[in-house]
Amino acid sequence: MAFDSLSEKLQNVFKNLRGKGRLSEADVKAALKEVKMALLEADVNFKVVKQFVKSVEERAIGQDVMNGLNPGQMVIKIVNEEMVSLMGSETVEIAFRPGKELTVIMMVGLQGAGKTTTTAKLAGKFKSKGKKTLLAACDIYRPAAIEQLKINGEKQGVPVFEMGDKVRPSEIAKAAMEEAKRTECNVLIIDTAGRLHIDEEMMAELIEIKEACSVFQTILVVDAMTGQDAVNVSSTFDDKIGIDGVILTKLDGDTRGGAALSIRAVTGKPILYAGMGEKLSDLEQFYPDRMASRILG
Ligand code: GDP
Repeated sequence: MAFDSLSEKLQNVFKNLRGKGRLSEADVKAALKEVKMALLEADVNFKVVKQFVKSVEERAIGQDVMNGLNPGQMVIKIVNEEMVSLMGSETVEIAFRPGKELTVIMMVGLQGAGKTTTTAKLAGKFKSKGKKTLLAACDIYRPAAIEQLKINGEKQGVPVFEMGDKVRPSEIAKAAMEEAKRTECNVLIIDTAGRLHIDEEMMAELIEIKEACSVFQTILVVDAMTGQDAVNVSSTFDDKIGIDGVILTKLDGDTRGGAALSIRAVTGKPILYAGMGEKLSDLEQFYPDRMASRILG
């Protein structure tokens, strides 16, 4: 399971803290050193770890904790609170245009991150909220991507707009937008092409789509299993095309936790949803407090 190793290490640190009646400054520092090691081993961004430990230490070495009735518990509480804040504290919802205006959402990410699957998963969420949704198949390079979106769209009962793989993606997106307006949809989700690595051509194509159909939300899909790479990918996409939020996939796997704990702090962009499996229903809203509880065990 995700975070197992990180959880286990943190629980060991906490067990030692709980066992002590009083805590000296040295006790707190020693415990935080272990927390730091555990976070680094979980592939959390180095700068994020440094700032995190500093924040916890500043609060924990205050008088309240040292002289409190249960100092160990207080330190654990502070670690929990700081971890929640690292992930953004509040759950962030995908933003929609007001009233009946069409909201265009563009899904971006590297190949294999789970973009096409997540597009269909999101369509299901929107449908259950009563939003009429159209999907647009603009990944014309990966063989079977269009077919995959069509199959998944059908499973979700959401129509898929496609023009095969010979038309320019920005043209497909524009035509899809017209179709969405014509059929009075509330939401258009555009599935775009991913590459194995970020390249200029890919970014240029995304910018072209973004401009062609006044995209309202750009959502990056990243694979949690890739740890720091997921964080770097998020920063690069945000710099190059601007993203509004991130969906972290494959949190059902044995990911170490680095991506979940670093993305918000490094990019300032919220994690919106977490992919928890291959099934189309396996998409959960991202709650920083629940995620922290899961990590801390
Ligand atoms: P794309 O290239 O980014 O469009 O990626 P796909 O949507 O085709 O997904 C790549 C693989 O990851 C597929 O086998 C998906 O079933 C799988 N996948 C996507 N999301 C998740 C997830 O949250 N958990 C797991 N375990 N697998 C996922």
